[in-house]
Amino acid sequence: MKKILLYLTLFITSTTMTLSQDLQTDTFTTDQGELSIHFVKHGSLFFEFNGKIIHVDPVSGMGNYEEYPDADLILITHQHSDHLDLNAINLLKKDNTKIIMTEKCHEMTENLSNVIVMHNGDELNINQLDIRAIPAYNIEHKRQNGKAFHPKGEGNGYIITFGDKNVLVAGDTENIPEIKALKNIDIAFLPMNLPYTMTPEMVADAAKAFRPKILYPYHYGNTDTSKLVELLNNEKDIEVRIKKM
Ligand code: ZN
Ligand code: ZN
Repeated sequence: MKKILLYLTLFITSTTMTLSQDLQTDTFTTDQGELSIHFVKHGSLFFEFNGKIIHVDPVSGMGNYEEYPDADLILITHQHSDHLDLNAINLLKKDNTKIIMTEKCHEMTENLSNVIVMHNGDELNINQLDIRAIPAYNIEHKRQNGKAFHPKGEGNGYIITFGDKNVLVAGDTENIPEIKALKNIDIAFLPMNLPYTMTPEMVADAAKAFRPKILYPYHYGNTDTSKLVELLNNEKDIEVRIKKM
């Protein structure tokens, strides 16, 4: 009986549990219901849409993944340890959770089941969501040996369509032509930490080209976000929102 009571208490606690205090959330209206975006930290975030949870680049050290809801779908942009964390994936995955990742990520997580590899340019529909994988790579920023931090073809950015809203999570990339050519992006996440991804100038350049309605700089480390706000100050149709990422 004691045991049953304990289970009951746990059950009630978990269903009425509010997400951690420090987790910031924005909610949007789409033509197919509400979309909530929960901002974790760095490159980690998750979406809630029609009762489904979609985690992007969950990494244990970035947030309290023990507390966050399990995933129906997990998207991994690339194999770097601040994006691919098998522990976090195992913590979030249920029996039927699908995991979308790159070929390199797949090579590094061989025993993981329900994996779908997407390459740059691939499109698929999963859990009634259209998902497009786009390139994510460096043009300028390179390692000392001359190799890009993110070579072309390795990493993915993802465009996820929630009802009538297109959301881009760009992954680790620069202001590449493939991003600048995008159309109809409602919400965009662009990375802004150095030297691995973009300067505020590069983010502003990309945003001025593809004009997302809402722009979240993310994965920004110590980069000054006010610089980006200043650079886009005159672009009234692009709303820059700063979250603690
Ligand atoms: Zn990276
Ligand atoms: Zn990164």
